[in-house]
Amino acid sequence: MTTLPNCPECNSEYTYEDGNMLVCPMCAYEWSANDFSNEEEVKVYRDANRNILQDGDTVTVIKDLKVKGASSVLKQGTRVKNIRLVDGDHDIDCKIDGFGAMKLKSEFVKKI
Ligand SMILES: [Zn+2]
Repeated sequence: MTTLPNCPECNSEYTYEDGNMLVCPMCAYEWSANDFSNEEEVKVYRDANRNILQDGDTVTVIKDLKVKGASSVLKQGTRVKNIRLVDGDHDIDCKIDGFGAMKLKSEFVKKI
């Protein structure tokens, strides 16, 4: 058994694993277990302003984007909540009202 790290937010020891994430039941903070690994290079995701993006961030779209398979355009200024960073050309996994699950490029968003 490995000992799970304490919650980085409230230092609670009652953390548990949920897939690749660690969850704190005391303050509901979630973070990636990989953050604590020094063995792997952690990919850094940056938005249009070169700010670092993290899972769960809220961003806005900085320009109108055509969406594959959708009749409407994703408007500049659209707020995207709870993003998930993934590997790939489109490195943000998210769900947008009116569009559903989709992928965005980090270069076309800005962190709020
Ligand atoms: Zn906590």
